[in-house]
Amino acid sequence: MPPYQLPGPNAKAIIARDRAHISPSYPRGYPFVMDHGKGTEVWDVDGNRFLDFAAGIAVVSTGHSHPKVVKAIQDQAEQFIHISSDYYHETWVRLAEKLDEISPFEGKASSFMTNSGTEAVEAAIKLSRYHTRRSQFIGFLGAFHGRTLGAVSFTASKSEYKGRFFPMMNGVVHVPFPDPYRPVIARRKGEGYGEAVVRYIEKEILSRILPPDELAGILIEPIQGEGGYIVPPPDFFPALRTLCDKYEILLIADEVQSGMGRTGKWWAIENFGVEPDIITSAKGIASGMPLGAMITRKEIMSWPKGSHGNTFGGNPISCAASIATIKLIQEAFMQNAREVGEYALDALAEIRVRHPSIGDVRGIGMMIGVEFVKDRESKVHAVKLRDEVVNLAFERGLLTLGCGQSTIRLSPPLSTTISEVDDALRIFEEAITLAEAKHHK
Ligand code: PLP
Repeated sequence: MPPYQLPGPNAKAIIARDRAHISPSYPRGYPFVMDHGKGTEVWDVDGNRFLDFAAGIAVVSTGHSHPKVVKAIQDQAEQFIHISSDYYHETWVRLAEKLDEISPFEGKASSFMTNSGTEAVEAAIKLSRYHTRRSQFIGFLGAFHGRTLGAVSFTASKSEYKGRFFPMMNGVVHVPFPDPYRPVIARRKGEGYGEAVVRYIEKEILSRILPPDELAGILIEPIQGEGGYIVPPPDFFPALRTLCDKYEILLIADEVQSGMGRTGKWWAIENFGVEPDIITSAKGIASGMPLGAMITRKEIMSWPKGSHGNTFGGNPISCAASIATIKLIQEAFMQNAREVGEYALDALAEIRVRHPSIGDVRGIGMMIGVEFVKDRESKVHAVKLRDEVVNLAFERGLLTLGCGQSTIRLSPPLSTTISEVDDALRIFEEAITLAEAKHHK
């Protein structure tokens, strides 16, 4: 029974072997060693049970090893495992047709399949340059788009992602993400904060350093993920869309973390009433099988044969897992994410009233951020307290992940039930109470 003494003996032994042979660059937060999982529950190699409110970084959208996803993987593996993107197969086509159906575009959509989020972002960068014949981009402070050299040039959540990896890809200018809790740009009379950020982009960036006819695209997470689960104000995306239309700039929504039903809609950008030009997807798209996609309007996918490709693109097992995942999300889990997510947000708002260290609770659906501060007036980040809450929750059987400087993200499988949320939040609040007592001694 919790609190567990972690890591247990089996976990300790595996971690020691891991350290001997696996790159130390992976950012492991706490010593969880997975044995098996079912839905929102996971067990470690010492038999300890946890509720998984991290979902493998928002990946296992249908829960761990959903029987329908497992069956789709098994059936496809028996038929064939790989043929390469030099050939055709129907499962890949069926997935692309499905992505067209759920894409946020009015007209027909076309997809380029990848193995990960960062590769989907690379594909979006390359296609934007190809299609517009322009080379420059705007990205956002706090953003996370991946770690390959193109994507990491846009990533701006922590400087350690860039240290000793320079030079970056040329042609990315970063601007502030519209964070309503921590605004950095002064608003004019009658102006919303989202509009203020777009005015800043037009008047300070486009007119001073980046001529708009050199600008291929604006790459943005509709809800910033790794940067702190930050939801922009409602006036932001409409103003950004207008700016992109004015100068024929592509609006690229990175939906790797926020997409696939997590916010109660297929794509987070749909919450803001705006149609992007390109979206990138990965993480939750195939319940944990490695798959990504760069999806765009048919007319924008204008590059010719040979201009971009990969060996594993359209991997049949990943595609089969994705088709099963989309069906499950469509039938029940997207609505569940909306309803249970709202329930969790309400419960967290109540928890906030009881705990002065919580500065902000925010999110849509099952993409929820809880930001910890030293006090609500100064909003100074309570980094140590946040880390303590993550560790105390872990020892009590709840997996969560930090994001931003002092935020904890709650991103459980979309199938998570109200009673699992109740159990998780009971542990979460206990962890906060203990951490507050320790830090206010
Ligand atoms: N884009 C966003 C918004 C992400 O959150 C991530 C990963 O966290 C990525 C891109 C990169 O995805 P991957 O780790 O699959 O390369």
